[in-house]
Amino acid sequence: MNSIKECDFVLKNISSYIDKDLDKTCCEKIKKHLEKCKDCNREYNDIKKILDLCKNSFVKMEKKDKEKMYKNIDKLLKKE
Ligand SMILES: [Zn+2]
Repeated sequence: MNSIKECDFVLKNISSYIDKDLDKTCCEKIKKHLEKCKDCNREYNDIKKILDLCKNSFVKMEKKDKEKMYKNIDKLLKKE
């Protein structure tokens, strides 16, 4: 069983996690959670797949553009 709170935390920080923009404690926490939580892991892999696809253009992006993109990806995944 995973607590909703933990999933919330992970999903909220998943883009920063992929971007290695988190401190070590948060990273470890997310990493551990991804190992045991299927839902978050799927989300993580989806985002990562998208990022891998556009990696070349992505590395050239400014940080604020990356954040914008993450937000769009988040929206897509949540389908809101
Ligand atoms: Zn989770």
